[in-house]
Amino acid sequence: MITDSIEERIITDVLKDTKEYSRIAIQAPEGLKKLSEVIARELERSGKEVLIFADPCYGACDPKDEEARGLGADVLVHLGHADFGLEKCIPVLFYPYYYEVDVSEEDAARISDALGDRDFSICFSVNFDRIAHRLASALSSIGKRPRELQRVLGCSFPSVDGVALYVGDGLFHPLGVAVNNSVIAFDPFTRELNEISGEDMDRRKRGRLLGVLNAERVGILVSTKKGQQHFRDALVIKRHLENRGKKAEILVMDRIERDSLTGYGVDAYVNTACPRIATDDDLGKPTINYAELVELESEEEKS
Ligand code: SF4
Repeated sequence: MITDSIEERIITDVLKDTKEYSRIAIQAPEGLKKLSEVIARELERSGKEVLIFADPCYGACDPKDEEARGLGADVLVHLGHADFGLEKCIPVLFYPYYYEVDVSEEDAARISDALGDRDFSICFSVNFDRIAHRLASALSSIGKRPRELQRVLGCSFPSVDGVALYVGDGLFHPLGVAVNNSVIAFDPFTRELNEISGEDMDRRKRGRLLGVLNAERVGILVSTKKGQQHFRDALVIKRHLENRGKKAEILVMDRIERDSLTGYGVDAYVNTACPRIATDDDLGKPTINYAELVELESEEEKS
């Protein structure tokens, strides 16, 4: 749901904010590739040198500031995400994409009916920030005040007060929220309301855990992406697995993908990179996150 006014605002801001720079690198997620081209053309028209990183970009955990500096860029324009708070070696300017959709009284009434008398909190990804706040006001005006409003990332698995009312599209974020909460998801584009249960996720998680427990050889996955790189954790995991009598090897790559892993003789993986790789991607072998391994070990210690 890209509207011209949102794009125009971002283009205007980028042109204004990059005035003092001469070589500009741009990074954008899949859905904003076209916008990155428009911005590049506008910047070139004003005499700048521009390069676009064409690798897929899934979050602000992966800013290409070092690569941009290596190519002589003096600033990186990162579209579509909010700052992750990582240290960067050149200025990185973030331009989240804020969707604009009205929330009707009817939407608020339907959501209120679905919530019944349960307490709730509102969760949203950065792109739905404005809509989530609008919905909070609409609900408050009919006597349904949320306990809290919480911005979530795909890798943040928050525990909120009451039912989590997720505002946004798709399943990527609400499934993350469902790890620790009952979720009602409201899609402001389609107006659909769906309840998401954590039970199915628990079943799948148990299957993945068993796969790793039964493995003889385990691959520990490490990404070189700046905000996903946890090599020290990988060393700790290797020691733990070896103490359990398993063979373990550390496999390092930029983007963790099934094709790159083909050919290694391991039976399962422990993932230290983006936690959604273990829950959403099919690497062809059981995969758990480091946090899930820690959880398992602490449960074992208690029993
Ligand atoms: S770690 Fe994964 S879920 Fe978190 S911001 Fe990066 S890509 Fe998104």
